[in-house]
Amino acid sequence: MSARLTETVALLERLISHPTVSSDSNLAMIAELAQRLEEAGARVDLFADHSGHKANLFATLGPEGPGGIVLSGHTDVVPVEDQDWSSDPFALREEDGLLYGRGSCDMKGFIAAATVMAGDYAQADLRRPVHFAFTYDEEVGCLGARALVPELEKRGLRPAMAVIGEPTSMRVIEGHKGCCEYTVRFAGLEGHGSSPERGVNAAEYAARYVTRLMELRQALMLRAPGDGRFDPPWTTLNVGRISGGVAHNVIAGKAEVEWEMRPVQDGDVDFVKEAVAAYVDHELLPAMRAVCDEAWIETEVIGEVAGLLPMEENAARDLVARLVGANGAHVVPFGTEAGLFQKLGTSVVVCGPGSIDQAHKPDEFVSLDQMRACLEMLEKLGRSAVLVGE
Ligand SMILES: [Zn+2]
Repeated sequence: MSARLTETVALLERLISHPTVSSDSNLAMIAELAQRLEEAGARVDLFADHSGHKANLFATLGPEGPGGIVLSGHTDVVPVEDQDWSSDPFALREEDGLLYGRGSCDMKGFIAAATVMAGDYAQADLRRPVHFAFTYDEEVGCLGARALVPELEKRGLRPAMAVIGEPTSMRVIEGHKGCCEYTVRFAGLEGHGSSPERGVNAAEYAARYVTRLMELRQALMLRAPGDGRFDPPWTTLNVGRISGGVAHNVIAGKAEVEWEMRPVQDGDVDFVKEAVAAYVDHELLPAMRAVCDEAWIETEVIGEVAGLLPMEENAARDLVARLVGANGAHVVPFGTEAGLFQKLGTSVVVCGPGSIDQAHKPDEFVSLDQMRACLEMLEKLGRSAVLVGE
């Protein structure tokens, strides 16, 4: 093993030992990364969330100002409860060239590699900045990146490129759909099942709402861009859960619908939300309130994560493809923080070690080969004209 790989595995072991499940604090891990980056000579800023238990880290090497590249990863991991692990998920275990541990591929492996490389970047004669963005709460709606991106905007920091190191098996990814999740609650008026006209049946209104969603599916298929590369190439809607009511012979007073949409383009989100809101305001609510003034429908936004739109021109994609020797870029079905950086006007690519097949699963692992490939990409990045050229 090269010294750098050994150092990266040692740091990965440290990072995995911090159980940074999204519901818990990430401060200890952030503090350790901040210290390492400062030792390498980076200027480090921490941005705490409102609770004070979590923070984003943003660090810079090289000159101030716009341009340059940001290496981005989320520090949080998904829970291990109800998963059958062969060993302690928060203690790195190496076996047959595989490094096991929660977060090993999603995505502490990339964070470890990027942080170890900071020392090298600091030695290079950087003409443009290298930034490190390590965020919280990606797994629960990209909350950290959502807070960080406006901070960067405020400071006039607009990195030209971003590499999001999510596990892609080091494949070059230039696009993914967004993911928007909603919970809609219906409150009607309970009553005896023998007199449906005297109550407001929340379950029936929920059913009508779901029917409207299913109608919108057709419209979304027609709106799909002609050259779409996603599978399927249109924005999808899915109803994941319906609940409500108490028994056969009672008018359901309450109901709930959980649904999601995976947009392939920005406009589809507003299109669906406006169509649904109009249906609620002009059809469902008036009908409910004709019987009971107090009836209501409420929509909770669980998360709205922007997609990464494949772009004709994408300097980050072209650069990373060159670095890893890929001759094409792909799209994937899973979401990342990439779309948030794209909104900043940054060109974005997703490329990182490990496979999404192992993410979120028991016995999550990243292979030494993947870590080696990631380090190689980051080493070449440090020598690239993008950072050290005129
Ligand atoms: Zn991830």
